[in-house]
Amino acid sequence: MKAAVYYGIEDIRIEEMDKPQINQDEILIKVKACAVCGTDIRIYKYGHFKIPEGDKRILGHEIAGEIAEVGTNVKGYHVGERVVVPPNVGCGHCKMCKQGFNQLCTDYEAFGISWNGGFAEYMKVPAQAVREGNVIKIPESLSFEEAALCEPLSCCYNSYQAVDTKPGESVVIIGAGPIGVLHAMINKIAGATKVMMVDIIDSRLEEVKAIGVADVLINSQTEDLKTRVLEETNGLGADIVITANSVPAIQQLALEIAAVHGRISLFGGMPKGKEFVTLNTNLIHYKELKVVGTTGSSLQHVINSIEIAASDRMDLKPVVTGRFKIDDAKEAFAYAASGAGLKAIIVSEDL
Ligand SMILES: [Zn+2]
Ligand SMILES: [Zn+2]
Repeated sequence: MKAAVYYGIEDIRIEEMDKPQINQDEILIKVKACAVCGTDIRIYKYGHFKIPEGDKRILGHEIAGEIAEVGTNVKGYHVGERVVVPPNVGCGHCKMCKQGFNQLCTDYEAFGISWNGGFAEYMKVPAQAVREGNVIKIPESLSFEEAALCEPLSCCYNSYQAVDTKPGESVVIIGAGPIGVLHAMINKIAGATKVMMVDIIDSRLEEVKAIGVADVLINSQTEDLKTRVLEETNGLGADIVITANSVPAIQQLALEIAAVHGRISLFGGMPKGKEFVTLNTNLIHYKELKVVGTTGSSLQHVINSIEIAASDRMDLKPVVTGRFKIDDAKEAFAYAASGAGLKAIIVSEDL
């Protein structure tokens, strides 16, 4: 089979290799679509602590495909079934796993990080992942491309649950990349009446405009964000602020543009060395703000996201703006890193 193999920082090679062999407790997936995530780009540029130097890895964790082989001990799955494979695999027996928060397992494994992922023609699902329920069937109405996007959507769903957007509320999303768009979509469904999307790249704002998910588009480089948000909210500030980026100053600004009783989702993590951010905590105190963090998603968040994406309430198709084959994996990475379009996705030859 063909695979895009990560050898180390800025070193990805397209290689022919043997199809993975499965044992009686495993499943083999024929990958149909695997989207490129910001995490893939970060690994490509800076490496990852779960990939020791000298190790090779197939990246890609936003995975949709078809079951190609099923181990003889595996019950409930059949060849040909269409599935997604959420990346975070819990141990199954720690406190977080028992509560259903597999993404918070301290002993987690992850496809595309600690295990081989989806930038290949086939991917093995190890027994632990089969047992923990990381192979989830999808309905016929959902294309493989849309299904692959259910993973990033589920991360936004996790954030949405934490801020608990109510009908009639205003939402500011800072960062109009694919993740920002997915936040906008889920908040719209939750009933937000004014979704404001902020970026510094005009072409991105244009893409978002074309999708039609934002009510207000703001380029924060040419316009003062705080002034505009106050204008758009009768001087009250936004009920929900989501920081879909990794800029410390944006976390500071988020507190300023939030309304009284506002909820702030610090969605984007900070890069190493920038994690200490000075915040005006009086804003949290006097405005009774809720500042929440979320990371990744649980299997339940993925299941909810599949339901939404398969319904007529959400159309994920326009989020994909760049399609590539495995041979062009490097181009896909460059496209995703450039910020030019929205989501880059690697699709199989026969999709
Ligand atoms: Zn991702
Ligand atoms: Zn666990």
